Amino acid sequence: MVSRIIPVEPFDLVVFGGTGDLARSKILPALFRRSVAGQVPEGGRIIGVARQDMGVEAYHALIAQSLRELLPDLAQVPGALDRFLKQLDYVALDATQPEGWEQLASMLGQGVRAFYFSVGPGLFGALAERLRQHGLVSDDTRIVVEKPFGHDLASARALNATLAAQFHERQIYRIDHYLGKETVQNLMAVRFGNMLFEPLWNSQYVDHIQITVAEAVGVGGRADYYDRAGAMRDMMQNHLMQLLCLIAMEPPAKFDPDAVRDEKLKVIRALDAVKPHHIVRGQYAVPVGGVGQGYRDEVGDPRSITESYIALRAHISNWRWAGTPFYLRTGKRLVARSSVINVMFKDAPHSIFGEEAGRHANVLSIRLQPNEGITLKVTIKEPGPGGMRLVDVPLDMSFAKALGPENQSPPDAYERLIMDVIRGNQTLFMRGDEVEAAWAWTDPIIAGWQARGDVPKPYDCGSTGPGDAELLMRRDGRRWQGINP
Ligand code: NAD
Repeated sequence: MVSRIIPVEPFDLVVFGGTGDLARSKILPALFRRSVAGQVPEGGRIIGVARQDMGVEAYHALIAQSLRELLPDLAQVPGALDRFLKQLDYVALDATQPEGWEQLASMLGQGVRAFYFSVGPGLFGALAERLRQHGLVSDDTRIVVEKPFGHDLASARALNATLAAQFHERQIYRIDHYLGKETVQNLMAVRFGNMLFEPLWNSQYVDHIQITVAEAVGVGGRADYYDRAGAMRDMMQNHLMQLLCLIAMEPPAKFDPDAVRDEKLKVIRALDAVKPHHIVRGQYAVPVGGVGQGYRDEVGDPRSITESYIALRAHISNWRWAGTPFYLRTGKRLVARSSVINVMFKDAPHSIFGEEAGRHANVLSIRLQPNEGITLKVTIKEPGPGGMRLVDVPLDMSFAKALGPENQSPPDAYERLIMDVIRGNQTLFMRGDEVEAAWAWTDPIIAGWQARGDVPKPYDCGSTGPGDAELLMRRDGRRWQGINP
């Protein structure tokens, strides 16, 4: 099954921060892949903008080097790199200064204009104002902003207000790259494209839901930023919250931006405040006698009390989910990189096979990464003549296997999202009120830690997280599913 390429209209995409890490590692490689796939039309133009005073040749050399490193096979496709670089330009300007904007304006055409703010949020206001002031904003203009969108409710509101002063909400694309992942979109396809699941998708049949986003890596080069954010702000408030919304929301009437985002917002607003004893914070450490670096070594602060792990139990107070807990966990330096949603169904109400057959419950596992796919654990008879013993077996579907070899490497989230910006489709982008609602839920949790002087529990690098996270489940008579690569 070959995916269809639907060409987009000619566009101008201006990447502010065009020499930065995100532009070189994600945005431009995504555009290059789309270009090789034939989706970038001839009239499409990409303009990198940054402070560095360099000519377009030097910029081409910089970007070509990144593309050769990150996408060596594609970079060798005859003519591909040249074709892409021909559509790539560069303008040196400082977003806080008045010079350089006329040159940028003179390069823009009449079609769709997208301005990607791949710079720190401190520059959003200056950029938005200058774009207006220098007449670069047309009717067909969009802006794209990156996470972190604020570090609490007040700062998110301030950022929203700054952008709203210059742009309509329909022009603002707030990226949460999780929403661009194929498998995350598949959550909606599985739920709303099949009759099988939706009738069971409620507290009557679902015992609880587990959402795990485990990383094997540590904070790496982002130590400074991460130590100020922690897992709650960096992962829970945005990525896990988005997954929770997609799993829990009511079916929107149609797959359109506001219909989907209205339903997600209702989920966030229905979340109860999390009780302090329903949260476990952790920080990775080197096991006694072990080698390597723990969190505090990596961030260079022996007294840091920032969490690199968080597990919590959330409740959605609405008709569908009353009484069904959602257990969410995420952390760094865990045993494996694995993002999975497990929908844990209730036991059958009565076992006709007697107590000795044991208790068995269905589990629907939606694997987001790696090895994207779905497994449904079903109960069958254990083969053999010795009576009626039951055993659980997986009905396993790997999307890559099912869809054929050309789908082995799904498009990167940024490819999908950037093309959606050009197409003017906001469905997979967060609306301002959604972001604010997520912070309104997160803020009291963080304030509680600060008020109590909470110190995260150490956990061993390469483990499944702190022991208290196991207790969080065991107290409820439940267990986490394994974290498997
Ligand atoms: P970076 O520091 O590597 O790059 C910053 C870019 O902004 C550079 O091109 C620099 O020239 C430009 N810049 C800085 N000040 C400027 C000014 N006054 N005028 C014009 N250009 C200016 O940062 P990054 O890692 O690329 O991150 C960019 C944004 O994306 C940040 O908001 C970051 O939080 C966010 N983000 C980054 C990543 C990532 O993987 N790097 C992931 C998620 C979100």
